[in-house]
Parts: sequence; C-alpha cells; structure tokens
Amino acid sequence: MTDAKLRPATDIIRQAKHLVAFTGAGISAESGIPTFRGENGLWNQYDPRILELSYFRQHAEEIWPLLKDLFYNVISGAEPNPAHYTLAEWEKQGLLKSIITQNIDNLHQRAGNRHVIEYHGNTRDAVCLSCGEKTALTEEILAGNPPVCPVCGGILKPDFVFFGEPIPAEAAAKALEESAVADVYLIIGTSGVIYPASLLPYEAKKAGAKIMEINPEPSEYTGKITDIFLQGKAGEILPVLQQNL
Ligand code: NAD
Repeated sequence: MTDAKLRPATDIIRQAKHLVAFTGAGISAESGIPTFRGENGLWNQYDPRILELSYFRQHAEEIWPLLKDLFYNVISGAEPNPAHYTLAEWEKQGLLKSIITQNIDNLHQRAGNRHVIEYHGNTRDAVCLSCGEKTALTEEILAGNPPVCPVCGGILKPDFVFFGEPIPAEAAAKALEESAVADVYLIIGTSGVIYPASLLPYEAKKAGAKIMEINPEPSEYTGKITDIFLQGKAGEILPVLQQNL
C-alpha cells in the first residue's frame, strides 16, 4: 500500500464516529477457508446447487457429507487471522461499532468481536426441516448422516442461509440500520454479488458514509461507490492500518 493511500485511509478511520465493517469470505481466506469465488473459489470445483434449498430437501443425505467436508471440517480447524484480530482490537477501543458479516464461520466472535451481525446465519446451529426446532450442532449430532433433529428425528439443515432463503429478519433489520448510521464503511473481502447483502454498501453510500474497501481484486463496488480502494490481502492491510493509526 502506498503512502498516498495509507495516510488518508488512517485519517478517515481515526476520525470515524461510527465505523462499520462489512465482511465477506475473503477476510477468512488467510485462515484457510476457501471463498466461493475468485482464485481457489469453491464454485470452481462444486455445483452451487448443493446450497439450493429445494435441491437440499431432496438430496440431504448426499449433500451433508459434502457440507461437512467443505464447511464444518474446514471451519472447525481454522483460527482467526490478523484481519479478524485487528477488527476485534478496534471494537475494544470503541472505534468499530459493528461488523455485518456474510460469513458463517464464527471467526469474528472467536477473535473477540461482540457486535457481529450474522447476515447469512452460522454453522453453529441447525434447523429441523420437519418441526422447525433450532438445535446446536454438537459433534454427536453432526456425526449422523444426515444429522437429525433430537426432538422429532426430522432432517436437519444448517442454520445458514441457502440460495432461495430469506435473510433472518432481525439480522436484516439491524444490518440496514447500521449501514444507514455509519459514517465510515469498510468493505472487506467480498465480491459484492450476493443479493440482498450486496445492497448494504449502497445504503451506507446513500446515507453519506465514506466507503473504503480492502480486496486483492476489484469487486462490484470498486470504481462505483468505493472512495478508497486498498488493494491487497485483509490480513496484511488491516494490521498496517492499525500500526499507523
Ligand atoms: P466471494 O467468494 O463471492 O468473494 C470473495 C472475495 O474475497 C473476492 O472478491 C476475493 O477477491 C476476496 N479475497 C480473496 N482473498 C482475500 C484476502 N486475503 N483478503 C481480502 N479479500 C480477499 O465471497 P462473498 O462476497 O462473501 O459472498 C459469498 C458468500 O460466501 C457469502 O454469503 C458467505 O456466506 C459465503 N461464504 C462464507 C465463507 C466463510 O464463512 N468463511 C466461506 C465461503 C463462502
């Protein structure tokens, strides 16, 4: 990152009154969790249909082993990286007010953040497709194929949002609220193509926030609403910002 960008970026963060981070799969890439798109993205190898609700209902037994391989085993072996820890430090200092994350990996909370809005749910819990009961996905339950509801024996679905499912209402409302009150909006590691999450930065821009972005590649926002584009990996750029604050 050049000095010409570092200085204005750190000034904006230091002076922020309501800094909000909007994160995507890219922030966890350096923790070893593959993204969906981009280099080494999951959709280069797998059919996104495995995350379509109607397809899952019909093929749960076939899809669950894949979900365990692609998400559960990978996430349980992953640790937060310097990008997550920098955001945790900023929350502790009172600088960062909230994180709106599209991720389902729990790494922001494990790094220490408390104000995390999980826009797409999480991998901690599952929901029964028969009785609707929410269950913590213990190792024992996860060992089943497919994992079944301890209450009624119905098939469990991960409590993260599949294609074609609505966003959890409380998270959707809170994310919109935080996007509208942010004066600085930091977009980290998202391609910006997943609707409706992709609209949130536009809400922030409309409400007058300065938009900063960290990504090794340009995204849907770069060159459109992004005011400062910091090109590079989140785990490298965020600690540099922190050191220069
Ligand atoms: P995406 O896969 O569409 O895009 C990832 C983005 O991250 C790309 O723009 C890529 O250039 C960027 N990136 C790659 N390495 C990076 C790094 N080191 N630092 C910063 N940026 C980096 O991801 P998305 O936009 O979040 O949307 C896809 C959906 O993926 C989300 O809904 C999310 O639920 C789901 N997802 C989550 C995880 C996770 O929880 N870790 C992993 C894969 C997918």
